[in-house]
Amino acid sequence: MTNSQVIRAWSNGQPAHSAHLSTDGDKLFSYALCIGEWRDGLPVVFNYTARADINPFGHRVPSLGFYSQTTSHHVSLARRVGYAFDKDNPPTACSCCDPGCPIGHKGDCRSTATTWLSRVDDIAREPLPFCDACADDAYASGVFANAEGAAS
Ligand SMILES: [Zn+2]
Ligand SMILES: [Zn+2]
Repeated sequence: MTNSQVIRAWSNGQPAHSAHLSTDGDKLFSYALCIGEWRDGLPVVFNYTARADINPFGHRVPSLGFYSQTTSHHVSLARRVGYAFDKDNPPTACSCCDPGCPIGHKGDCRSTATTWLSRVDDIAREPLPFCDACADDAYASGVFANAEGAAS
């Protein structure tokens, strides 16, 4: 099996292995080093390359250190299907706890948060994390605006 096939299997939650890259369907290993895992329905990749990365959610993910050319290559392959995240800080969970949320989580959502929204009233000034789907609903409700305060 090729490395690309292993990455594809990982992105589908299936076990697979090539010579130096393997997955149990959850965690992804370059040799014995864990370079990725599934978190809250999101395939996350740990940045074992020489350079910092920026994920699509706008978070800067510092380098965890350069291990080898091969491992860097494995990480870059995994990045085609996954998202760079810090290894020790799991992504923030969605704070939506609306039992009537149309997303259907019936209470605590806990999906990976991608957006921070502030309430437009004075109840909570701190921006709250939301997943994509709940953010759409929260934003549409008119109670929240994006964290920059610009209700665009
Ligand atoms: Zn949510
Ligand atoms: Zn929700």
